Amino acid sequence: MNIILLGPPGAGKGTQAARLVEERNMVQLSTGDMLRAAKTSGTEMGNKVAAVMDRGELVTDEIVIGLIEEQLDGDNKGGFIFDGFPRTLAQADALADLLASKGKTLDTVIEMRVKDEVLVDRIVNRAAEAAAAGQPVRADDNAESLKVRLMAYYKETSPLIGYYHAKGQLQSVDGLQSIEDVAASISGALENVS
Ligand code: AMP
Repeated sequence: MNIILLGPPGAGKGTQAARLVEERNMVQLSTGDMLRAAKTSGTEMGNKVAAVMDRGELVTDEIVIGLIEEQLDGDNKGGFIFDGFPRTLAQADALADLLASKGKTLDTVIEMRVKDEVLVDRIVNRAAEAAAAGQPVRADDNAESLKVRLMAYYKETSPLIGYYHAKGQLQSVDGLQSIEDVAASISGALENVS
């Protein structure tokens, strides 16, 4: 089963994706993780996107579509979780084409709904917890970049909710529940399409 986790920054996509990897043998494709890895290892592409990411803006469609394309080959029984991709309508169209060209399907899109006030708190906490634990703090986990990230979400990404709803592929879960309850809601959504 191939699914998209859709939601604003701080909605809990990464947390839930990690559980699905563990419990259902799925493969998580997070363009944010791929871009951070490129940034850390200092590849040409990583250097190119670093400042854009730190500001909280979106990198170009071409770059992220290329990253996803590289990962879609090969058979995996559990399927893919697209986490943080697609983020624009152009990326959504490209994903549909890529999957079709590989004989794969998109089974469902799960929107994780969370209120803005909660997102800000979650992201500020994520940064504080990482700092207290001596772990690296994401360069874009600060109030300034978060504002830009939320704007990018509403402007570029939220139209995907209508896009997938129109295709009959959208399911929404309440992302304000506990991690366990969100996981249970996602399981229910997956049951609906299996
Ligand atoms: P994330 O870890 O998903 O929050 O992504 C961190 C940052 O990477 C975003 O704020 C963007 O700068 C960039 N990024 C990740 N995925 C995408 C995407 N699908 N399209 C454009 N930019 C992305």
